[in-house]
Amino acid sequence: MKLFETLSDHGHERICFHNDSTTGLRSIIAIHSTVLGNALGGTRRWAYTDEAEAIRDVLRLSEGMTYKSAAADLPMGGAKSVILIKPGQAATRAEGLAMGRFVDTMNGAYIAAEDVGVTPQFCDWMAEETQHVMGGETVSHGGDPSPFTAAGCFNAMKACLKHLGRKVDFSEMTIGVQGVGATGYRVAKLCKEAGAKVIASDVNRGALEKAVKELEISAVNDGENIFTTKVDILAPCALGGILDDRTITNLKCQIVCGTANNQLLHAIDDGARLKKCGILYGPDFVVNAGGLIRLAGLYLGMTESRINQKIEQIEHTTISVLKEAGDAHSAHEAAVAYAKRRIEHGRERARANPNRVATTTP
Ligand code: NAD
Repeated sequence: MKLFETLSDHGHERICFHNDSTTGLRSIIAIHSTVLGNALGGTRRWAYTDEAEAIRDVLRLSEGMTYKSAAADLPMGGAKSVILIKPGQAATRAEGLAMGRFVDTMNGAYIAAEDVGVTPQFCDWMAEETQHVMGGETVSHGGDPSPFTAAGCFNAMKACLKHLGRKVDFSEMTIGVQGVGATGYRVAKLCKEAGAKVIASDVNRGALEKAVKELEISAVNDGENIFTTKVDILAPCALGGILDDRTITNLKCQIVCGTANNQLLHAIDDGARLKKCGILYGPDFVVNAGGLIRLAGLYLGMTESRINQKIEQIEHTTISVLKEAGDAHSAHEAAVAYAKRRIEHGRERARANPNRVATTTP
């Protein structure tokens, strides 16, 4: 990999590697942008096949966080970190402390939080060594952001319906939810409470049975696929990269709007393919910003009501982006352009006020 060329191509500011000889922690922090401010992004613990895969992941994820923060109109940049683990390796306090010390060396330019493989407990271990952590419950604060991510996704669903000129009446709708984990379970619950018929799928049988029982929803039949089930809205709430040439052409929904990150396998081609197939796509980083808004808002000292107001604004932002998507190749492209415009405004403001220090803790 030509690292500097890759950083330049995508506009990354910094990538830092840490090797902790005492605990064996191997971790990478990538800061994509601090143009709009310090950058909050989760820490992912993952058994990568090799180091190049970990580097690609942290670079891609940190760039996504820049757009997510900008589209949510937060004075925040974009960053992410990854911890390279062995398959099945359990998290320990020593690892969390070592990661916290690494995060602290960023002086607040990077603020860590949960991602795949990281719990509120791990955030609290990191927080024993640095104040630049969100998402814990004892040493740091914010807790699990997933209820807020789900609430934002539900608001984005309303925006999609309005964009299509449909009545926002869930009682006449069927919603398909892929993955009933932390966010998907709550998306299903909100839709069900609004009167929708919900059909869910999950590779984890226990999670699916629990959701079916507790929420009184149905599960896709054995051998059937949520992506080919006829629904009004499909909410991908599991893995990324699930929308590709094969899945998109077989979709039987009008709208795709879910919490999963990086839903489009090939952002440009698959975004355009959705549009060509007449399927309205709620751009993932706009739709799923609720958790980030919650943690970033608390970090920045916003009030609860201001944070909730910003999560409600996801509906308005989605409507604006979908409107602009009419003239763009895809809703994804329109969302990136929307975020980049906000970053450019921030850059202009910074030029006009050169004394601003992007890495100062607010
Ligand atoms: P989670 O791990 O709690 O839940 C994911 C669920 O999907 C699990 O139950 C898992 O068994 C299921 N799953 C995995 N592969 C599947 C498949 N092929 N088919 C059906 N189900 C499958 O994760 P989460 O926190 O709910 O996050 C879900 C997605 O949303 C991820 O892409 C994540 O990056 C994104 N996201 C989450 C948040 C948040 O606040 N948690 C915020 C923004 C984005």
